[in-house]
Amino acid sequence: MSGIYIHIPYCKQACHYCDFHFSTSMKTKNEMIDCIVKEMDIRESEFSKKIDSLYIGGGTPSLMTNLELETIFNGLEKKISIGDIKEITIEINPEDLISEKLEFYKEIGINRLSIGIQSMNNNILKWMNRSHDTNQVINGLNNTKVAGFENINLDFIYGTPKNLSRDYKSELLEILKFNPTHLSCYHLTIEDGTYFGHLEKNKKIKRIEDDISQQEFRWISEKLKSKNYQHYEISNFAVQGKESFHNSNYWNQSSYIGLGPGAHSFRNSTRRWNISNNRLYIKNIKAGIPYFEQEVLSPYDIVNEKIMLGLRTLNGLDKDHVFSIVPKAIKEGIESKLNTFLKDEILLSTNNIISMNPEKWLLSEYVSRELFILKE
Ligand code: SF4
Repeated sequence: MSGIYIHIPYCKQACHYCDFHFSTSMKTKNEMIDCIVKEMDIRESEFSKKIDSLYIGGGTPSLMTNLELETIFNGLEKKISIGDIKEITIEINPEDLISEKLEFYKEIGINRLSIGIQSMNNNILKWMNRSHDTNQVINGLNNTKVAGFENINLDFIYGTPKNLSRDYKSELLEILKFNPTHLSCYHLTIEDGTYFGHLEKNKKIKRIEDDISQQEFRWISEKLKSKNYQHYEISNFAVQGKESFHNSNYWNQSSYIGLGPGAHSFRNSTRRWNISNNRLYIKNIKAGIPYFEQEVLSPYDIVNEKIMLGLRTLNGLDKDHVFSIVPKAIKEGIESKLNTFLKDEILLSTNNIISMNPEKWLLSEYVSRELFILKE
């Protein structure tokens, strides 16, 4: 199975934590839609495989007018049968959850919404520079029910600095009242190049301590499990059968086609990424010159990714598969590290499938790095 990702690189305003590719200037939006459709034509031959997921992300795709979205769908319909795609998701901000948009989304076949709630505290939303407030969340989520959407993901951010006097527990309980089928709970990250990154450099923001992060992570995990959500990836929770196809394609190293500036694609061991610059992407697409870079992953790169992705999910890692491609000397080194992590109960093993102890999931990046196969 494979997926399509379409990146719509515009936002109303810049959230202080965000390092995704987007612009707050909409001047190029019309041309951008045409160029994304043109990219579909350029990559026509890649659409031949069975597609099970279409994901429209960004940026803020809900800033597109209905007509612009229809243009994208018309372009796609010429390459694939959209009606056959099992999961069609659009990211939407709470202030855009209005009947007119939602009804149109339903009409064109979108069957899953991913909504950036992040917090149910207006002071925290302001602090993050989000463009919505909690009233818009409540009204908007009610509108999704009226429009008949049953498959809904809500994004929520925890791990915010302690001095902010925030009650993340009651906020999470409040959004659970809307019975989302899926929750993505992300720890706040402070990245270079963002406003929070700038504040951190100037010692005006202090990261939460690791042990408090762990406590918050555990509380969220336990609470959601008690409400019948499966914790199937570090940051993702789903009611049974509502795990995201889009995410799973990525974690399973399935192929996917990424369209639009900054979008990544993966196919036949080749990873490619489009230019993260709106004007340059448009210029190059129009001129018919390269608008992306790419690299061919070595078998070791593929296994390292498998380690990293496998340890992020409940599926874990097939030990035999990893060992089948590495020379004996490397195998012994990995085996010894695996045994240490197993002994410390950081990793668990069932029938040769190695997975993270869910309580230690926040350590998965460190464990993956330790297990990575270094090039000879
Ligand atoms: S709306 Fe989303 S993509 Fe846009 S700045 Fe905020 S977090 Fe980033």
